Amino acid sequence: MNQPLSFDVLIIGSGAAGLTLALSLPDSMDVAIISKDALDAGSTRWAQGGVAGVLDETDTVEAHVDDTLDAGAGLCHEPAVKFTVSHSQAAIQWLIDQGVPFTREDGEHFHLTREGGHSARRIIHAADATGIAISDTLIQRAREKSNLHLFDHYIAIDLITREKLGLDGSGCVGAYFLNKKNKSVEAIRAKSVALATGGASKVYLYTSNPDGASGDGIAMAWRAGCRIANMEFNQFHPTCLYHPMAKSFLITEAVRGEGGHLLLPDGDRFMERFDARGELAPRDIVARAIDHEMKRLGADCLYLDISHKPADFLKQHFPTIYERCLKLGIDITKEPIPVVPASHYTCGGVVTDEYGRTDIEHLYAIGETACTGLHGANRLASNSLLECLVYARSAAEHITQNLSQLDAPEIPVWDASQVTNSDENVVISHNWDELRRFMWDYVGIVRTTKRLVRAKHRVKLLRQEIQEFYSHYEVTSDLLELRNLVDVAEIIIRSALQRKESRGLHYSLDYPAPLPRAFDTLLSAKYLKELGEL
Ligand SMILES: Cc1cc2nc3c(=O)[nH]c(=O)nc-3n(C[C@H](O)[C@H](O)[C@H](O)COP(=O)(O)OP(=O)(O)OC[C@H]3O[C@@H](n4cnc5c(N)ncnc54)[C@H](O)[C@@H]3O)c2cc1C
Repeated sequence: MNQPLSFDVLIIGSGAAGLTLALSLPDSMDVAIISKDALDAGSTRWAQGGVAGVLDETDTVEAHVDDTLDAGAGLCHEPAVKFTVSHSQAAIQWLIDQGVPFTREDGEHFHLTREGGHSARRIIHAADATGIAISDTLIQRAREKSNLHLFDHYIAIDLITREKLGLDGSGCVGAYFLNKKNKSVEAIRAKSVALATGGASKVYLYTSNPDGASGDGIAMAWRAGCRIANMEFNQFHPTCLYHPMAKSFLITEAVRGEGGHLLLPDGDRFMERFDARGELAPRDIVARAIDHEMKRLGADCLYLDISHKPADFLKQHFPTIYERCLKLGIDITKEPIPVVPASHYTCGGVVTDEYGRTDIEHLYAIGETACTGLHGANRLASNSLLECLVYARSAAEHITQNLSQLDAPEIPVWDASQVTNSDENVVISHNWDELRRFMWDYVGIVRTTKRLVRAKHRVKLLRQEIQEFYSHYEVTSDLLELRNLVDVAEIIIRSALQRKESRGLHYSLDYPAPLPRAFDTLLSAKYLKELGEL
């Protein structure tokens, strides 16, 4: 193994959160930015809608705060919401200054859209591809800076803490990585480490997220001793295209907005049985209704039909969906679109304060990986990119003011003497499928205690098997992601079992009402180990 590389700051993740942090640190700092795939492979690039912020003179911080609190169903931390929203204008201005080409109305003013749950027009966007504009611009800016060192196709395995090294004191001092290009394990040490690894939606069979959303940062922080909060709150998008050749393709809510009907396999409409607003009910109600009907009928998917509208209208309003479906043999002007709900956003994560600080000294978590208290029990649309920006900038401020003068300690080389090359990779692919299937069936949109307990037993067996595999065989990217997913699944199941109520995105048939007071679900691996639970 090579000698560890050494940096002032190690940022794991090159999405909106990681790159904003990197670009907000002083040029005097040597910074490593790591991505397990290409630099733009995270969810950031996939964002369509935009970034929420108080940008219009008729809008107010109070109104944006109120909308966020409403969506969060009583579980948002009000100080975190106020902190985020009051920094929205400056954070978005920073993005504009970086050169993100947001859409302008009249060559001067930025065009703002309004999304569900927002009481004002406050979403700044770059047409319907905001994520691409942000990702391309920030990567370009990062490439221009000589103090920023970009590493792609390096996947973090685990964090290294002073405690793990048997040293005095506490604090994160680096991480081990698998270099996917040459398959070697390398260590990187740093005075400060930030997790900006995105969400964990890949733990479910159907997801709108890219493949890498396997909750790696959450799992690494969990194993290192950080508290993880509110992981039972996973946002599901009601309609993702269901087709063996289509991966993670969202059918926008605008299709329902323009009169699309949701249909059972026999062609019957059903939404009005669940909500008087029918197909126009809020996202979580529609997702829950689809899930209910799919489970009741044992159906693989339901259908979204807009073929009663003129073909020209559909081609003009939904060109991307029209083209994509047509390529797969579905003509949306003539037939219904097969759809399933899909896991979309992880509201919970690593517990942090307003500077992105975690429970471990010199370890920060930002973006979808973190739980800042902003989203509570349900995320308000387009608040997530805002959260990435605001907390990355405040983490940069804290790191700048508190960077140690001392180098991080020496890190021992990765010991691979006890492991061999596996010829049983089928175990990994089988376990991937099994995990994501039972999470979908037992821990999905509508939950029962019985199903959650069943999932808890399954996850225990899988963990043992994966741990055994991890101890005996050389690490691969798939194995590392699976190991992280099984930890995340365990945290989600335990969190869901702990919540004896329905609130926001967590809906239990056994506890259909909310409790009078809202509490966070906080879990710690250390504590569970002390109880003999892990
Ligand atoms: C289809 C879609 C549409 C969306 N639309 C919007 C929207 O309009 N507005 C909005 O606010 N939000 C939207 N979101 C959510 C938003 O895009 C994400 O919450 C946000 O981009 C997360 O940014 P991030 O920087 O935290 O993580 P990501 O952008 O997901 O980046 C994660 C990074 O971490 C790296 N990484 C992960 N694990 C490891 C590891 N083990 N080792 C090394 N590197 C690792 C990845 O390679 C990647 O570089 C959308 C999401 C999706 C999927």
